[in-house]
Amino acid sequence: MHILSKSTYIKGEQCEKALYLFKNRPFLRDKLSMEQRAKFKRGTDVGLLAQQYFPGGLNMTPSSPSQFDKRFHETMSNLGNPAINVMYEAVFQYDDTLIMLDIIVRDGDKWRAIEVKSSLSLSPTYYKDAALQYYVLKGCNVPLSDMQLMYLNADYVKQGELDLSQLFLFQSVKQYAESYQDVIAKNISNFKNIIKQPHSPKIPIGNQCETPYRCEFHGYCWKDVPNESDKPYTIDYKSLYNLLGDTNQPTAYLNLLFYRPAVPIFDGDKPYTEFIIGFSILSNNGRYDRVYRWNCLDDMSRWKESIPLLIEQLAGYERVVCFAPQNITASLQRFNLDVAKELNYKIINLREVLQQSDFHHEKVKNDFSLKNVYESVFTDKTLFEHSRIILNATSDNLAERLLVDSDLELENKALRDIYNHLA
Ligand code: SF4
Repeated sequence: MHILSKSTYIKGEQCEKALYLFKNRPFLRDKLSMEQRAKFKRGTDVGLLAQQYFPGGLNMTPSSPSQFDKRFHETMSNLGNPAINVMYEAVFQYDDTLIMLDIIVRDGDKWRAIEVKSSLSLSPTYYKDAALQYYVLKGCNVPLSDMQLMYLNADYVKQGELDLSQLFLFQSVKQYAESYQDVIAKNISNFKNIIKQPHSPKIPIGNQCETPYRCEFHGYCWKDVPNESDKPYTIDYKSLYNLLGDTNQPTAYLNLLFYRPAVPIFDGDKPYTEFIIGFSILSNNGRYDRVYRWNCLDDMSRWKESIPLLIEQLAGYERVVCFAPQNITASLQRFNLDVAKELNYKIINLREVLQQSDFHHEKVKNDFSLKNVYESVFTDKTLFEHSRIILNATSDNLAERLLVDSDLELENKALRDIYNHLA
């Protein structure tokens, strides 16, 4: 039975206390954020596509943790079976450390080990991941021709069928992994000792709590730190009023739902090209709220229908307030010059306006999201994470997709509340 896995090892590299808590007090973890869930889903989608690059493989994924040992022995026996050339999620164990390798492919009389990443570039953490896998594979005496990272090609443009040979890039990390083996052996031995201790290591909070990932014990370790988020927000009202101009014009609030699939869906798109899959417009005629909603979740190829609809529905308003993390003008221009011409002059991206007006609150320090701005302005209220909408919008479950319209509307109302409160 293993003691460490790839994820616990990476935790230990980030902070030994996080590793200890994970192994001994897992119930202290924070709730998984929607953003983390969205990332996880993205990774799974790309991982399945990467398997198709090496078709016909045997899927070794254990159905439960109790299957790990069985799968490990099957993996080792499959390596010697000439009828098996590719395995997905093959299980290896060495030095009390278990890994599941995304893909392993026969390469002459050796094997090529591949770890899949759903990103456009490779970070140092990915190299360390791969070095650990290499350590375990070598410990299992797997003859390796190479250890590679497989990731998305930022320059790939889809034309017709997905061309997997162009969509993915490979980077050998064997040399790096070789040079890192002593460090890994030492770390593993150290981590095994730490886990056995009666108390968690005394490690003060610091930069490691956010880097390279936000630690899942953040809530626990930071609970006694004086809460700066109790302090009210600050803003330079002079800049704000200058930037907002005449707020008495007929105003609509626009909530655009962008989707950035890791794997391009339409011809002409690259990985992570974004497009509009829904929107909600909120306005008020002096007595009643008017809501206009549109989405193309049932058939995303209809996304371009959003453009004429936006122009038509926003025609009667002099200003359109939105809150977008991206440069909305540039985004609209890329979609369609006409819509850019029609809308740009009256669009106010409240996010940019607030940033330029030095809006500050502890909550927005690391993430200037609508949720965090809303909760800084209205300290007794909460809003959900935007990733919830993306997760529901791309869900296979119809009931979840049906929640998207009302969530877009709720965000839009939060936007209006912030705008009315500050303007
Ligand atoms: S919150 Fe910081 S100190 Fe606490 S376990 Fe995580 S990384 Fe370590």
